[in-house]
Amino acid sequence: MTKITIVGSGIAGLATAISLHAAGFEGITVFEAEPHLRSLGLGLNILPNAVRELAELGLLDELQQRAIRTQELAMYNPHGNLVWREDRGLLAGYQWPQLSISRSRLVMALAAEVRRRLGDGAIVTDARLVGLHNEPGRTCGIFTDRDGSTRTVETDLLIGADGIHSVVRAAFYPAEGPPPTNGMTMYRGTAWGDKFLTGNSMAVLGDDRRRLVLYPIERDETAGKTLINWVAAFPERETDPSRQPAGGAAEMRKAILHQFGDWAPPGVDLTCLLEDTQHVQKYPMIDRDPIPRWTFDNVTLVGDAAHAMYPAGSNGATQAIIDARVLAWHLAAHSDVGDAFQAYEDERRPQMTELQKTNRSMGPERVITLAHERAPNGFDDVREVFSEEELAEISRNYAVTGKFDQDWVNSRPSLTVSQRHQPDLRRDTWSAE
Ligand SMILES: Cc1cc2nc3c(=O)[nH]c(=O)nc-3n(C[C@H](O)[C@H](O)[C@H](O)COP(=O)(O)OP(=O)(O)OC[C@H]3O[C@@H](n4cnc5c(N)ncnc54)[C@H](O)[C@@H]3O)c2cc1C
Repeated sequence: MTKITIVGSGIAGLATAISLHAAGFEGITVFEAEPHLRSLGLGLNILPNAVRELAELGLLDELQQRAIRTQELAMYNPHGNLVWREDRGLLAGYQWPQLSISRSRLVMALAAEVRRRLGDGAIVTDARLVGLHNEPGRTCGIFTDRDGSTRTVETDLLIGADGIHSVVRAAFYPAEGPPPTNGMTMYRGTAWGDKFLTGNSMAVLGDDRRRLVLYPIERDETAGKTLINWVAAFPERETDPSRQPAGGAAEMRKAILHQFGDWAPPGVDLTCLLEDTQHVQKYPMIDRDPIPRWTFDNVTLVGDAAHAMYPAGSNGATQAIIDARVLAWHLAAHSDVGDAFQAYEDERRPQMTELQKTNRSMGPERVITLAHERAPNGFDDVREVFSEEELAEISRNYAVTGKFDQDWVNSRPSLTVSQRHQPDLRRDTWSAE
């Protein structure tokens, strides 16, 4: 049996484990550095291309019970003028919905599926990869736990799904250093509030520097309340010096209000939302430069370890799920692991490089920046500022770059591997040896 080691139990690592199992592989273990699986309840939007993959893995029904089906994206300038709105998910003609979901719920559902398919021992927590030996014919990961005990795991394949600070990636790019930042700081949280816009809308507000993103991730029908996920991003250097340091929750709320004042989509009171947010989290906005190779012999990268990008356009986790499925597809379709990894990388890396670059100019949210540059004082009618075609083109081009446009998602061949072909990828079958 092929022994497959996955480093990291985020969305990329867990989706890879499930996809590999669905493609017929068995000897899969996921090693996670943290003593427990992560349970941050902040939100994620998963686009229909990835929801299709989750559906084909049999997970859609369960996830839908825990998610909101996003039906609209609405973008505003700070004056409350609507710059662009579009239907999303099923309403936009996709055969699969777009899901707004709590990250912890998604991770826990994926982890439960890994354990159901592969057994409780398939996820090993408190196992941090600290070293990697990789040469043709021999790959070992060295893991430590909190007590400092070390174990060496010899494996046939190793997949780095260990996120933006990937140790696997660093083994091949030792001079890369920490992730670069664009100088923006993100503040994030969730709070119960009232429905806004359609009740299933994602709202993005901004000017040329700042962004405020809000969407619901859960509904309490009995109480008539919605759990709203929000992210506020602005240049760190613009934090009001009189209110420094913005370290505690109260200071962070003040810093956000100082920037965004009375900004909010119709139906949201930002001050109340911030007051009702128990935990505010603060992160620098970071990504990774595209790299020329993801694959080194029998090691490859998926998710943020391969292509971390700025969070514009709901693509990081979405694309991690696609990586998982494409990788499993090629491993099942090729009898040589080198060919399989190369086919995976050839398919995914150019697309992700393009998306990483596009996200550096904030992806589809670029229309907000353009709206500010063209009409800093706002407008009565968006047609004074843009033609309908120009706005539609920006949105469509981004979807095509990320390969999540309706035509492609609805019509492309499935990545589900039939049971017809299960190659043996053990080392002694590799042509590299
Ligand atoms: C503000 C914000 C909003 C976002 N919104 C969206 C969105 O709406 N839609 C979307 O698709 N994406 C979104 N993203 C991006 C998305 O969160 C990431 O792209 C995605 O979570 C990456 O998943 P991953 O599994 O590759 O990495 P991670 O989630 O970082 O998981 C990596 C895992 O590896 C573990 N690990 C790390 N190092 C080691 C080690 N040495 N040994 C063992 N284990 C290790 C970590 O503990 C972790 O569990 C957003 C990101 C941010 C910051």
